[in-house]
Amino acid sequence: MNRRYRKTVIAGNWKLHKTIAETKAFSEALKAKMERPRWCETVLCVPYVNIPSAVRAFRDTRVAIGAQDVSCEKEGPYTGEVSAEMLKEAGAKYVIVGHSERRRRYGETDLLVGRKVQAALDAGLSPIICVGETLDEREKEITAERITVQVKAALADVSVTALRRVIIAYEPVWAIGTGHTASVEYAGEIGTHIRTVLRRKYGARAARSVSILYGGSMNEENAAALLACPDVDGGLIGVASLDADRFWAIVEAARPAPVDDTPPPKPRLSHEENE
Ligand code: PEP
Repeated sequence: MNRRYRKTVIAGNWKLHKTIAETKAFSEALKAKMERPRWCETVLCVPYVNIPSAVRAFRDTRVAIGAQDVSCEKEGPYTGEVSAEMLKEAGAKYVIVGHSERRRRYGETDLLVGRKVQAALDAGLSPIICVGETLDEREKEITAERITVQVKAALADVSVTALRRVIIAYEPVWAIGTGHTASVEYAGEIGTHIRTVLRRKYGARAARSVSILYGGSMNEENAAALLACPDVDGGLIGVASLDADRFWAIVEAARPAPVDDTPPPKPRLSHEENE
């Protein structure tokens, strides 16, 4: 994390979990532990139909609500789709775009991800753009190339001004929902690679303000070590975000260490040394 230049973001991805009643119960459990976490942006990306009730449940807290996908279209004959405008009106502030489950199961291409990112930005949402290599790509040692292609495609039409609202989540596909987390060194290295790609396109100043999250079996035990990497500015969390205690423990792991304000010991004066 580098709090000087960018915000820390802890975002939960609930996927296909939790009814409206369960969302309410979760919000009560989380609010019971939560002092307002000012040290990070806390986000919950919930199923579409839960967005209005989640927004209501977390009103007056510092938890923002997001969606897990968005249409690249504004309106028209697209049965089953939900537009960015609709999400915004429902109270969402964030939207996950290009999650590997959508790329893999629903055939989302890099090109489509780019269009969705643009749709989200046009409506005033912050896209959380997921990129990451498969196990096969990792074994072929083409991780960096694959991620470069994904990041460039997702940001193809994004201006330097709009970049301020973009969040990138590095999620190695082989780590999602498997309990196998990337090592701290590996996650940190890919985070730095992503920032290099951003720097080449937008310049150092713009690139340093983008929050880059790690996702893939992040939990309350490994979060602090991952978050200590300079280019890991938060987490996108699946399974561990479904439980209020576990999610809160990850938010806590992002809390800055308290400043030690004990006065330093008085320097010994030279005449004391001689005594
Ligand atoms: C995810 O789905 O974005 C994710 C990171 O899941 P998990 O934490 O369960 O691996």
